[in-house]
Amino acid sequence: MNAEIVAIGSELLTPFRQDTNSLFLTQRLNELGVEVIFKTIVGDRPAHLLQAARVALSRAQIVIFSGGLGPTEDDLTRECVAEALGVELRRDHEMVTALYTRAAALRMRMAENNIKQADYIVGAELLKNPRGSAPGQWLDTTYDGLRKIVILLPGPPFEMEGMFNDHCCDRLKLVLPEVRLATCELKIAMVGESTADMRAAKIYKQFADVETTILAKAGEVQFHLTAHGATQEEAEEKIERVASLLEDEFADEMFSAGGESLEQIVGYFLQMRGATLAVAESCTGGLLAERITRVGGSSRYFMGGALVYSDALKREFCGVPPLLLASDGAVSRPVAAALAEGIRQRCKTTLGVGITGVAGPTGGTDHKPVGLVYIALADGKHTEVVERVFPGDRERIRWYASQLALDLLRRKLR
Ligand code: ATP
Ligand code: MG
Repeated sequence: MNAEIVAIGSELLTPFRQDTNSLFLTQRLNELGVEVIFKTIVGDRPAHLLQAARVALSRAQIVIFSGGLGPTEDDLTRECVAEALGVELRRDHEMVTALYTRAAALRMRMAENNIKQADYIVGAELLKNPRGSAPGQWLDTTYDGLRKIVILLPGPPFEMEGMFNDHCCDRLKLVLPEVRLATCELKIAMVGESTADMRAAKIYKQFADVETTILAKAGEVQFHLTAHGATQEEAEEKIERVASLLEDEFADEMFSAGGESLEQIVGYFLQMRGATLAVAESCTGGLLAERITRVGGSSRYFMGGALVYSDALKREFCGVPPLLLASDGAVSRPVAAALAEGIRQRCKTTLGVGITGVAGPTGGTDHKPVGLVYIALADGKHTEVVERVFPGDRERIRWYASQLALDLLRRKLR
């Protein structure tokens, strides 16, 4: 079966708010074997909402509306969907009582307009919302003579997600043909998207029964594989065939086949080896440390470090020799090395990382352009330094630098 998601709310048409509900819903629907064929975002104007509802009902088998179920003037989803379906709204008296009870429990007086949240589209089942006031609705109906599943969910993501998980998944499973679906997420580091795709395409193009989606961000490419089968084993086998070939192709660059982030993998390796880490960061401004400490339990292997933006602090905190700073400049191979070894000694860790670079947009020269970054990894015996010029703006350059630092750690520890 296929689905359309209609996100309702004028704020979703501004630059300030994004429709994230449809991402969650798409993931859940895909897991149930439902393909999302359209997404619509529509503002709170009833004429537009009605039009969006009619179009969605005419082209998808499952239509999920999110938002506009609240008590305010501009919450008109119930009314418009009922009109599109050509049926009336009716008031559920149990729900009216529940709304009063909820208001009383919160020591609030219920405003009159709240009562409209107890209105349901004739034929619909109301879905309880313990996380908010507006109930959802589930409707198994017809439109133009064709069967349609129509679902109304509240807009706040926390309410919407809870309601979908609690009330819609099981109901959908009863309606949907049973699917056996297997998925897998492979991640590789520091390979460009086009190179990654070129190398991967020769593999996944041979397997038409596995759907491969490629997602890229700075310094990371993900392959999402999906396969269906008559049995779960069959679906898993299909995935495994492609995944193992991709793992061989990217043996050097692949860091995760289970959804883990690069910082999680690095943490896992550090722990496995009983190693500890400290970092001295300049152009990344603490981003590397921030990413490492995103992982719960990182205190077991990450000791800390220093954010050494000025030359003075590079000297004082990491013992970078003043002569080196004078002769080679702060952004240089030997300074990166001195930062890594200096912070390692200062923090008494197994490993030390030093990062120095020109994040831009100003400060670049012919000799040292914007994007030039040196990353060093020291273990006390040997210090490895990598020099790269990363493309993009300040944010992207800083992200790339943190990504490469993590990847150096991964390669050293694996
Ligand atoms: P309420 O009872 O809170 O009014 P509602 O069903 O009327 O619920 P909306 O008023 O449409 O929901 O939205 C409430 C909040 O949820 C808003 O802050 C909005 O930004 C957020 N929201 C609505 N739709 C989405 C969406 N598709 N993605 C992400 N956030 C959303
Ligand atoms: Mg609202």
